[in-house]
Amino acid sequence: MIQINNLCKSYGNLKVLEGISLTIEDGDIYGLVGRSGAGKSTLLRCINGLEKYQSGSLMVDGQEVNQVAEKDLNSFRRGIGMIFQHFSLQERKTVYENVALPLRCWHYSKADTEIRVKELLEIVGIPEKTNEKARNLSGGQKQRVAIARSLALNPSILLCDEATSALDPKTTQAILALLKEINEKLDITVVIVTHQMEVIQQICNRMSIIENSKIAESDTVKNMFFRQPPAFQRLLGEERESTSASGIELKILFSTDAESHNFLTAMAVDLQLPFPILEGKMVKCGDSMMGSFIINVEEEHLPEVANYLDQHQVSWKNI
Ligand code: ADP
Repeated sequence: MIQINNLCKSYGNLKVLEGISLTIEDGDIYGLVGRSGAGKSTLLRCINGLEKYQSGSLMVDGQEVNQVAEKDLNSFRRGIGMIFQHFSLQERKTVYENVALPLRCWHYSKADTEIRVKELLEIVGIPEKTNEKARNLSGGQKQRVAIARSLALNPSILLCDEATSALDPKTTQAILALLKEINEKLDITVVIVTHQMEVIQQICNRMSIIENSKIAESDTVKNMFFRQPPAFQRLLGEERESTSASGIELKILFSTDAESHNFLTAMAVDLQLPFPILEGKMVKCGDSMMGSFIINVEEEHLPEVANYLDQHQVSWKNI
C-alpha cells in the first residue's frame, strides 16, 4: 500500500508538489492524470525514492521513503519496477541482455537468469525476440522488453511514467491490456502517470487529477465520470460554452447497461416534451461503455425533467 499524506516538494523556489494526499491500495491500477508540468513524474520519483521530499509523509508498505537509508535504497527499489515513455533500453544489446540486466546486478546465477528471462519474455508475449537487438524492435515490442525488465526482480509495485505516450493507439491498447494482465495475474499494484484521460478510463480503477502541483480530485474512475467535476472537464477540454439561444443544457450520463437512446425517447414520450439532443457520445470506462448526452430543455420544464431523471436514477448535471 502507498499512503501519501500532505506531501510537499520543491525545486528551489519552485513548488512542484503541494499538500498531496492519496492512498493507493494493494491491487489497484491507480491513475495519476494531469497536464504536462503538473508534477506527476516527480510524485512517481518520490514513491521510489529517486527524489527526496521536504515535508509530509510517503509510506510504501509501511516504510517512510525519505527515511530509507542510502545503503538500503537499492533493496527498497527492488520492490518497485518502473517503465518510461521512451523505454530506456540499451539499444545495441539484445532483448535477453536487457531483461537480464537487473538479475546480473543482483548476482543471479547464469542458469537462474536464463530461466527467469525466458519466463519474463513469455509473460510479455515476445519469446521469439530473445536474441534480437533492441534497436530492431517496434515501439510496442520495446515497451514489452522494458516491462519484462521491470518485473525481473518480482516487484510488488509497477510505476508507469507515460508508458504509452510514444505508441500508436492500437499498440497502446495492447500494452494497456498487458499491464492489466500483469496486475491481475501477478498481483502487482500498478501506478500509471499519463496526460491521456483515455488511458485512465480504460484500465484504472481509481484516479487522481493533479493540477498545478495539487490534487484537484480523487475518486474511482466510474464515479469521476458520473460526477464530472470541473477539474475532470478541464482535463477533457470539455468546458462547454452554451450554444443554445434559450433554455438550459443538461448533461446526462448513462452506464453501459442503460439503453440511453431508448431512455431519452421514453422520457420525451412520458413527459410529452420534445427536446433537442445537442451532443451524444460513448466513452470506454474499464470494461463498460458509458454514454454522455447533452440535451436542451426550456427553463420552465426543468423541474419535471430533473424529477424524471432522479426517479429513474440517471446521473445528470446542469451545465
Ligand atoms: P509532469 O510529470 O506532470 O509533466 P514533472 O513532475 O515532470 O511534471 O514536473 C513538474 C515541474 O517540476 C515542472 O515545472 C518541471 O519543470 C519541474 N521539474 C521537474 N524536475 C525538475 C528538476 N530536476 N529540477 C528542477 N525542476 C524540475
